Amino acid sequence: MNVLVINAGSSSVKYQLFDMTNETVMAKGKVERIGMETAMLTHEPAGKLEIREVSEILDHTTAIRKVLRILTDPKEGVLRSLHDVHAVGHRVVHGGETFSGSVRIDEGVKQEIKRLFDLAPLHNPGALTGILAVEANLPHITQVAAFDTAFHQTMPPVSFRYPIPSVFYKKHRVRRYGFHGTSHQYVSGRVSELSGRPLDQMKMITCHIGNGASVTAIMNGKSFDTSMGLTPLEGLMMGTRSGDIDPAIVPFAMDKEDLSLNEVNSMLNRHSGLFAVSGGLGDMREIIEAAQEGDRNAQLAFDMYEYRLRKYIGAYAAAMNGFDALVFTAGVGENSALLRKTVCDRLSFLGVKLDDEANERRTGDDRIVSAADSRIEVWVIPTNEELMIARDTFREAVNETMQPST
Ligand code: AMP
Repeated sequence: MNVLVINAGSSSVKYQLFDMTNETVMAKGKVERIGMETAMLTHEPAGKLEIREVSEILDHTTAIRKVLRILTDPKEGVLRSLHDVHAVGHRVVHGGETFSGSVRIDEGVKQEIKRLFDLAPLHNPGALTGILAVEANLPHITQVAAFDTAFHQTMPPVSFRYPIPSVFYKKHRVRRYGFHGTSHQYVSGRVSELSGRPLDQMKMITCHIGNGASVTAIMNGKSFDTSMGLTPLEGLMMGTRSGDIDPAIVPFAMDKEDLSLNEVNSMLNRHSGLFAVSGGLGDMREIIEAAQEGDRNAQLAFDMYEYRLRKYIGAYAAAMNGFDALVFTAGVGENSALLRKTVCDRLSFLGVKLDDEANERRTGDDRIVSAADSRIEVWVIPTNEELMIARDTFREAVNETMQPST
């Protein structure tokens, strides 16, 4: 069975086509700048050269049509016809309290994704547009939604409630939801497989640290707490997001700088984090390079990023009364040996001990980087959210075919 995984944003569509008989990627790519005359399709068929096409693509339906056309192109494609796409899985950021796992998409699911627009105004509309665009091109195909929030639905109230008047929770669903759930679930599952220990007998702290960043406390395979909240702004310091701040800064900034709510929101989401502290660098590679050349603002940005991450790890160690494994994933977590070393060396009191050589080795593979005598295992696991979505989609599609017809 071939499964197409779609990650649709407001002006882009990313895709990966999986052959689920062996979980291999047959092709992947993206359409960017949808809505513009200079939209670009980048297509990478496995084992062939990458192709780029610039053309006018004014909406998601056209973008998906282009993707389907190139997947079935006699020369650049990997499929004979559209009949060889058997199911489509979508990444949807917000599933609210309704979805604690992936679901087959029907009218009710689409309505619910729409109802959740106010909780994820930047993300859910793009996902729904992607679902409708697939429907327009492949009217009868099985579609499945996988939610970033779903894995965290196991959090207990002590983790997910905010200490504010309960009317906000009851009336407006204001609570902590958490994000990157598919990634946290994937890497924790891999560590269990690789270490040969059952997931339901392990406590892990998983650090998904890329441009967006979150840490999760996973107890017995279930999310117990996570650093992102109602929105993906809470928690760690990120590329351009502030993470945790005193909420009183919001009215203070509005008053002192005469800012609107929208402007403060934009300040905290787009002009804060590493970008703000370093004075204009939002990318961790640039920060590390600048810091090594003596740039003090870049050094402070790195130090704050690392410090805030380490505080969360300490907090989650306390939340779970200890833990067995620390896992790093996403752009910074997978690639920055320096960040991992700085964090781990300062967690020695917990029994974390790195194998420096393993930590420095750049392989791109799943690997353990702690020393043999470390009390806590430290792992680097490249995340693979698309594969998780493809697996869920495959499972739902197989279940559907096994149901008796009415
Ligand atoms: P992601 O959002 O997961 O793609 O991660 C993007 C972040 O990973 C950016 O801040 C990159 O600078 C960072 N990154 C990628 N490679 C490295 C590296 N070798 N060292 C430090 N940071 C890196």
